[in-house]
Amino acid sequence: MVKETRYYGLLEVTPNASESDLKKAYRKKALRLHPDKGGDPELFKEVTHAYEVLSDPQKRSIYDARGEAGLSESGGMGGMDPQDLFSQLFGGGGPFGFGGGRPQGPRKTKDLVHRVTVSLEDLYRGKVTKLALTRNIICGKCGGKGGKEGAVRTCSNCNGRGIRIMLRQMGPMVQQIQQACDECQGAGEVINAKDRCPDCRGKKVISEKNMLEVHIDKGMKGGQTITFRGESDQAPGAVPGDVVIVIEEKPHERFKRRDTTLFTKTEVDILTALAGGQFVIKHLDDRALVVKIHPGEVLRHNALKVIPSEGMPSQRHHEPGDLFIRIQVEFPDSMPLDSIPLLEKALPARKPLEQFPKSIMLEEVEVVEADARQHELADAGEAMDEDHEGESEPRTQCANQ
Ligand SMILES: [Zn+2]
Ligand SMILES: [Zn+2]
Repeated sequence: MVKETRYYGLLEVTPNASESDLKKAYRKKALRLHPDKGGDPELFKEVTHAYEVLSDPQKRSIYDARGEAGLSESGGMGGMDPQDLFSQLFGGGGPFGFGGGRPQGPRKTKDLVHRVTVSLEDLYRGKVTKLALTRNIICGKCGGKGGKEGAVRTCSNCNGRGIRIMLRQMGPMVQQIQQACDECQGAGEVINAKDRCPDCRGKKVISEKNMLEVHIDKGMKGGQTITFRGESDQAPGAVPGDVVIVIEEKPHERFKRRDTTLFTKTEVDILTALAGGQFVIKHLDDRALVVKIHPGEVLRHNALKVIPSEGMPSQRHHEPGDLFIRIQVEFPDSMPLDSIPLLEKALPARKPLEQFPKSIMLEEVEVVEADARQHELADAGEAMDEDHEGESEPRTQCANQ
């Protein structure tokens, strides 16, 4: 018969629970109650304290016989930091990294981050791609022991710690320096050469090619990640980390993208722009979009047109955005002289010259082509003015026109 049952109640076990029952119950409760998971810190502390007492056979027998009062009499209330106990149970960082700044134990191997450059075409259509990555796996021959049973010995040079503390005299000061143990190369243990596993040569792990099938979903964006849980390096006594694939969007030569909106520019000859016709835009899949300009309709240079629903698909429901087209009208370099009367007939009359008061002298001047340097100068000057316009599209100016 136990005197009190509050601690058992906190862990939701009966007073005859075994040590492993207690451990299981605490893990379950602690995971749920951990303050980093939004749990109540006070309750977490209480549950942890209950476990601390009940998992210690000596404290448990005091509690069973005399209850909490008995524990405080025997000075057993000291208690440890609940965070420490939690870390002991779950290892270093625990199952969800808390930023407590505590040193992380060798619990989980490093995540492997791999960047994959994906074309806009593949992001538009979606794609499955195979990726071969090399990783360490536990040696099957020795089961990760590195040698025959009993061949592994604790390094006597560093007492298994893998490091040695050296003291160095620096004038009046003594400096402590940590060094990897040279006897065991920081491993903390040694295996005689003849006892080493022939497959891994005592390293406990061997290198293996790991084939991963990466599903690039339609509409994915640069910067998104695809995680393969536990596919990183294996190591004895550690949980393998994850392989994290980071998508990088390859710049496209004709399309720019912002979320589900696509931008492109297209050149249209002046006859089509003024008299109708058609132009075509090769899309990111196996289609080309034919755009008709009806006779009588005029396409202005730099006009912005939209083709609805021909942008990128959204990732969730594959709902497409719009495709924006900036029209670039191609002007001829020169005009045959006999076509000029026809143009004069077809186009609106020339604008009359602006009239000035008599005090203004009219002076005829020549214009010449601007050279490359002058183009740059002009672009920089004009860009300053355009900052205020707040355009929704990245500039698509050609500097070398
Ligand atoms: Zn050593
Ligand atoms: Zn081996």
